[in-house]
Formats: sequence, C-alpha cells, structure tokens
Amino acid sequence: MTATKWTKRSLAAQAMGKIDPTTRGVVPPIHVSTTYIRDEDNGYSTGFIYGRPDNETVHEAQAVLAMLEEAKAGALLFGSGMAAATAVFQALSPGDHVVASKVMYWALRAWLLNEATRWGIKVDFVETDDLAALKAAVKPGVTKLVWIETPSNPLWTITDIAAAAEIAHKAGARLAVDSTCASPVHTRPLTLGADIVMHAATKVLNGHSDVVAGALCAREDDEFWNRVKTVRKGQGGILGPFEAYLLMRGMRTLHVRQERQAASAMALAQRLSAHPLVARVLYPGLPQHPGHDIAARQMENGFGFMLSVQVTGGEGAAIATAAHVELYKRATSLGGVESLIEHRASIEGAGSPCPTDLLRLSTGIEDVDDLHDDLDRALKAGHRP
Ligand SMILES: *Cc1c(COP(=O)(O)O)cnc(C)c1O
Repeated sequence: MTATKWTKRSLAAQAMGKIDPTTRGVVPPIHVSTTYIRDEDNGYSTGFIYGRPDNETVHEAQAVLAMLEEAKAGALLFGSGMAAATAVFQALSPGDHVVASKVMYWALRAWLLNEATRWGIKVDFVETDDLAALKAAVKPGVTKLVWIETPSNPLWTITDIAAAAEIAHKAGARLAVDSTCASPVHTRPLTLGADIVMHAATKVLNGHSDVVAGALCAREDDEFWNRVKTVRKGQGGILGPFEAYLLMRGMRTLHVRQERQAASAMALAQRLSAHPLVARVLYPGLPQHPGHDIAARQMENGFGFMLSVQVTGGEGAAIATAAHVELYKRATSLGGVESLIEHRASIEGAGSPCPTDLLRLSTGIEDVDDLHDDLDRALKAGHRP
C-alpha cells in the first residue's frame, strides 16, 4: 500500500496496511527479540542488531506517526514524552541558547530550569504568542532552538507556528513544537515550517490512558536529527515493543476519537460560557479567545479536546467543584477516551502561570450531554455555602 494514494485516515485505520507475512494476519505480531542472528559473512543484512537501537514493532508505529505528521525524515519513539522532549535539548551543545514558551508543560519547564542549565544550556522563557516578544528574545547566531507549545497547557494560548518558524530560522535557530494537545489531526507543524514536532504519545495519540510514550518527528534528515538519534540510542530511550503495539492500536482510531472529542469540547465550551457559575472559558475554538484567529488558520478538523474553565468563587469553589464530579474522573493527564478534570494550580505549584480558580478539562468520548450535566451539577454543589 503506498502512502500517496490513500488518505491519512485510511492509512492510520490500517496501521499502514501491513500484514503478517507468515499467517497473513491483519495485525502484525509484536517483535520482542532483543538480539538477532548474524549472517554467515558476519554481517546483519536485516539491519537489526540489538534491541536498544531498534525494534520492528517500534518501526511500524513510527511509520504511522511519520505519515500523520508528514515527517520526511521520519519519527522516533521514546519511553515517555519527557524522554522525547529532553532528547532534543540533549542534542544541543553547552552554551547554546534556547527560547521557550512561558506557558508550557510544567515538568518540562522545571527540567529546563533545574537540569538543562546544569549542562550549560541557557534558557529564556517568553510569551511566544506575542511575536514581538519572541523576536526580541531570539539572539541571532546564539539561539539554537525555539521551543513552543500550542495550544499550550493549561491556558490553551495559541502560537503562530509559521511566524515563529520564520523568526527562528532568520536567527539561525530551529523551531520545535510540542503538539501533544493538537495532535496531527488538528495541526501539522512541519508543513507550517517547524523543524521538529514532539508528542507526549501517552496522551491522545494512544488515547486509552494505558501507555506512557513519547515521539519526535523531523522535517529534515540533517546533522541535528542524527544527534537526536544518537541520544536515543546511547541513552536507551527507545519505547518498548508492547507499548509500541498498543500505541499503534490507539492510532488506528485517532481520527474518529479526535473529531468526536473536539466536537464535544466545542459544545461544552459554548454551553459553559453561558453558565452563571463559570467566569471564563478558555478554548481556542471560541471567537472571544485571544488566539482564535490564528487557531482558525493553523488548526483543522476542530480546535482540540482540551479546555479550561475559571469558576466564580475562586480557588475554594474550583476545588469543591472538582470534588463533586461523578462521570468526569478527577485525575491528571489528558487525551484518553474518558474525560478528566483537574485543579492545575495545585499540581503545578509555585511559579506556575495557572490561575488558582482554573479547572482543566480533558474531553473524552462520553455522551456530551452527560458530561455537561455532570459539570453543571458539580458546579452547583461546589458553590453551595
Ligand atoms: C504529558 C505531557 C508531556 C510529557 O509527557 P509524558 O509522557 O508524561 O512524559 C509533555 N507535554 C505535554 C503538553 C503533555 O501534556
């Protein structure tokens, strides 16, 4: 099956159409071997030598993701989203300067501040949705990487990927995008000028809250991408074959899940905007969202499954609301088929830009009226004196 004739939806549904050559099974086997027989001439004609650098099931899952992201240089899977993200920074050299989004995944922000700086990486955080601020922070010839997250967790601010790529490239830097909350169904950063795309595949790519995985995709098979490959190989960051299999199974239904989740998130955002106990809804699909126009340009098939609400009555009412949900699950993480609710400020701690009255909602595939009714009841119960 060629990757040009069929749509991404079709190719993903069949995990690229690969069948098992031995049995003609429509689901290929999971390759578990850690080692491979050498040829009689001492070579390795299959290319497989050992399980740390390579695994066939991982290759198969990478091929699906590379197809979805239109990644000419391919995809690399890692044991977690953090392992994928940190591999990009570890591919830099001491003294290299990085500009990153101020609103971003909190654990990566903490890693950049506490760990990357110990290895000589210099990091400045700016509001990357403000292109003038981004331009001012980037130092031509010194900045080697611009790292953005869009929509960014947990305020869902939107950064203009094409404009950020232009600013980065003019300064001689690469642009990397954490596209976890957009997924390849809603945004294809490499086609907008980004050099690297990162996913916490733990989230919506897998979609079933049962795999921890990360991914990187690249546009150019250049020296930097080779450095990233060397980092994964050397540090042993590759995803396990069982997880790669589960991730591939998840990606078969990615389009169906994403379209349903985005439609439900939009309906919830609209209905909650009119709720008397909700002060503000943060969702890029709403026309009043500050990033809406850019989102409408660079996102497709909807605006994603993540939204946040700021409740009336402050932090106490927010925590009490979360305490009263029944259908929503009170838990961290996002992107699964089950809807999750979380008071983000309490997990992010000091230094977080997250308002204390904010509840983050990950929209699953449940009945949207049920989700709304659960939130409505919890909001009322959470505001009772
Ligand atoms: C979860 C998440 C990560 C980290 O991924 P892990 O698989 O938990 O290591 C990075 N970025 C975003 C936006 C995330 O939601």
